[in-house]
Amino acid sequence: MPRRNAPLSPATRAAQALRMIDPVTGAVVPGIQPASTFARDADYAPRQSYIYARDGGPTVEHAEKVLADLDGAAESLLFASGMAAISAFTETFARGDHVIAPKVMYHGGQTWLHRIAERRGVEVTWIDQGDPAALGAALRPGRTTWVWVETPANPNWDVVDIAASAEAAHAAGARLFVDCTAAPPPCLQALALGADIAFHSATKYMGGHSDLTAGVLSFADAKAGAEMRPIRSLLGSTIAAFDAWLLIRGLRTLYLRWDRACANALAIAQAMQGHPKIAEVLYPGLPSHPGHAIAKAQMTGGFGGMLSLMVTGDGSIARDVARFCEVFVPATSLGGVESLIEHRKVVEGPHSIVPNQLLRLSCGIEAPEDLVADLEQALERAA
Ligand SMILES: *Cc1c(COP(=O)(O)O)cnc(C)c1O
Repeated sequence: MPRRNAPLSPATRAAQALRMIDPVTGAVVPGIQPASTFARDADYAPRQSYIYARDGGPTVEHAEKVLADLDGAAESLLFASGMAAISAFTETFARGDHVIAPKVMYHGGQTWLHRIAERRGVEVTWIDQGDPAALGAALRPGRTTWVWVETPANPNWDVVDIAASAEAAHAAGARLFVDCTAAPPPCLQALALGADIAFHSATKYMGGHSDLTAGVLSFADAKAGAEMRPIRSLLGSTIAAFDAWLLIRGLRTLYLRWDRACANALAIAQAMQGHPKIAEVLYPGLPSHPGHAIAKAQMTGGFGGMLSLMVTGDGSIARDVARFCEVFVPATSLGGVESLIEHRKVVEGPHSIVPNQLLRLSCGIEAPEDLVADLEQALERAA
């Protein structure tokens, strides 16, 4: 079948970083432009759109174009970390705003929302986002400004129906912010499902090599993106050119890495189900997971590389398993090429509501049999 007039698949566009061949040298890899400032022309006008690196520059802009393309966004803006993007987003909240957020979500974002609520006079209603009726009950038509969902959500991998959440939020005059860090563009198109902002910690799958921190806000509406630009400049939270360049490189292999991470996670989830020392496997790709049906409908390119294991016993066995692994690296974060294991409660600190028995796994791209064998030997050694 000739495909000459068919649109290119996003995997192709990502692999070629939008085919931005350097017009001068023909280089197939973009250069890094680290300049902090840009000279004006004879009429004292900017030569292109660039003035000062805190507002962005050519390398950052290239990465943003690739991200906007993959997210189907009117505009994507890059930040120095996921939390820099989150704090720029919450900078748009005004005194008296009502915001709805999940009780169980990425702990850094939650800690920040608590602080905003206390210091800014923003009211937050915390809901169980796994309960489909909870959002409707919490919305206050005409008062709620933002609904925040995370899907699949740390560390239980609860799945939220984005289209239904967007419909409910919009009917009440609110907008929808989705933390899609665990479900990047190869599997989820949050904006097409109705979200107003898709957020990613690009430190994770998008960068993919545990060598940068970055955050992205992708906007459905160009006006909302334009309004965010001066906030980012004034907060000084723009990503550096070198990190943007590393991100472009990471995005070129995103689709390939994603497929392998999903396959590895499924293989591990299946191998751990029924293991005598595992009480429960939390993975949206398993039919036993409460969010499986929604995940199957909404995540069209795999269920992700993240899963959690509920280990039997009081939590000391879980900590031992994390200590005894020799292939999984005992470290926080996710979405890199190397698999990571973490005892989440220790990482989050004493206020964490995560159960002591929970181990969070980020599956990388190693051979699945090595990962399964590693968990099996660590489980055997743990008391
Ligand atoms: C890591 C992470 C963040 C924060 O991103 P950083 O890049 O670490 O600042 C936000 N949400 C989720 C789900 C994350 O995993």
